[in-house]
Amino acid sequence: QRLSRDVLAQLAPSVHRPDYDRDAKACGIVHVGIGAFHRAHQAVYTDDAMNGGDGNWCITGVSLRSPDVHDQLAPQDGLYTLNERGPNAAAPRLIGAVRRVLVAPRDPSAVVDAMADPGVHIVTLTVTEKGYLARGEGSLYDYIGKALARRRSQGSGGLTLISCDNLPHNGERFSAALGEYLESLDADTARWFQTECACPSTMVDRIVPMTTDTDRADVARTIGVRDEAAVVTEHFHQWVIEDRFAGPRPRWEAGGAQFVRDVRAYEAAKLRMLNGAHSALAYLGLARGHEYVHQAIADPQIAPLIARLMREEAVPTLPSVDMDLLRYADALIERFTNAALPHRLRQIAMDGSQKIPQRWLATLDWHSRRNQRCPALITALAAWIDYVRGEGRLVDDPMADALAALWASEGRGGIARALFGPQGRFEASWVAPEVDLQALTGLLDSD
Ligand code: NAD
Repeated sequence: QRLSRDVLAQLAPSVHRPDYDRDAKACGIVHVGIGAFHRAHQAVYTDDAMNGGDGNWCITGVSLRSPDVHDQLAPQDGLYTLNERGPNAAAPRLIGAVRRVLVAPRDPSAVVDAMADPGVHIVTLTVTEKGYLARGEGSLYDYIGKALARRRSQGSGGLTLISCDNLPHNGERFSAALGEYLESLDADTARWFQTECACPSTMVDRIVPMTTDTDRADVARTIGVRDEAAVVTEHFHQWVIEDRFAGPRPRWEAGGAQFVRDVRAYEAAKLRMLNGAHSALAYLGLARGHEYVHQAIADPQIAPLIARLMREEAVPTLPSVDMDLLRYADALIERFTNAALPHRLRQIAMDGSQKIPQRWLATLDWHSRRNQRCPALITALAAWIDYVRGEGRLVDDPMADALAALWASEGRGGIARALFGPQGRFEASWVAPEVDLQALTGLLDSD
């Protein structure tokens, strides 16, 4: 039996269910990039809000590229289960917040209609770091731009657009990119966007590995029916949102969301510590033959580097924030050791060229300007450079070909200069890094 509204009676009694009447709720949110993370994070906060009596906040999910999530969720009437693993794991929970999923290439006008619907007030996004790069027909900006033009002409009010990807200042950056895109096409809508819409920045945190067939088999055994759209995650979750909305919003605080004036300090701590450590675990761990995060963090050659990267290299660079950062580092190491939630290093290793600037280079830059070294980050950077050589295995990165060509022309030591030197590929990137080139090329030349 497969999960759907018709088989709820067969669901194990231990599974928590929504308290609200789904059929009585309209969609108030469109989410673009309905991968595992959204289903285990923002959709759960929205479900919490509606469990707490909040109004019409069901979610229309949009896949910009492949129909896979649609094909998982549509036969299940949008229902799926959230399955926590590891310390403090709660019982499985049925999430009712996702009402339907649209596949943009199949039905582009339905995506624009959904975003232009006057009952929709919020568009959230998790399209990965590289999802923000594409412009033009069929891109994120194209759908949103058309929907904003229609909202303006029909007077249906501004939208709050929230990027939930791991990018620094994600709201400001998205707003700037969308503003520029609109400006090039339609100056009236561009102006209307500036005055009527809001793009608050957010810090999102919950470790959500890709769901595997083993996970789906485990979930079926526990809940009593098959759930092709199940997500597995840890108990921990955090969402800090800049309190700047263009219109109404769900009471996400019901799920513990924090609304603050400025998220930048939270965002920097999370990117440089959690994400910085994750990427280091990926390249150092893969080089030593590990498959999962919990194996890499148990490796005595790697663990001290990760502790150092967070505590001694990242923490001093961070602006003060309402968090004890050394305790945060300890808590992160605990979360990485969660063997009940196997998280593939390969998943984290992908798209390194899009992740490394915000995860590592700001920290390196801060120390370089003070003539201080970062041995842990430099070791991780050397491991990434070796990783992208790509000999004999696929490097999943939008810059993979460029990196392989640089390797071929510059060799092992030269590639550091080609990437991070004064005329380097990263120079025009989001931070202007002064990487410790001497230490890095020294490491690369050392064997
Ligand atoms: P996923 O692979 O399950 O989903 C990614 C989504 O992005 C899919 O809908 C995919 O179609 C879309 N996408 C990928 N490349 C795209 C492109 N070039 N253009 C447009 N859309 C594209 O991944 P996920 O686990 O859901 O994570 C998505 C994002 O969420 C991450 O990249 C990250 O920024 C953020 N995030 C994830 C986690 C996590 O633990 N998984 C934690 C914090 C933040």
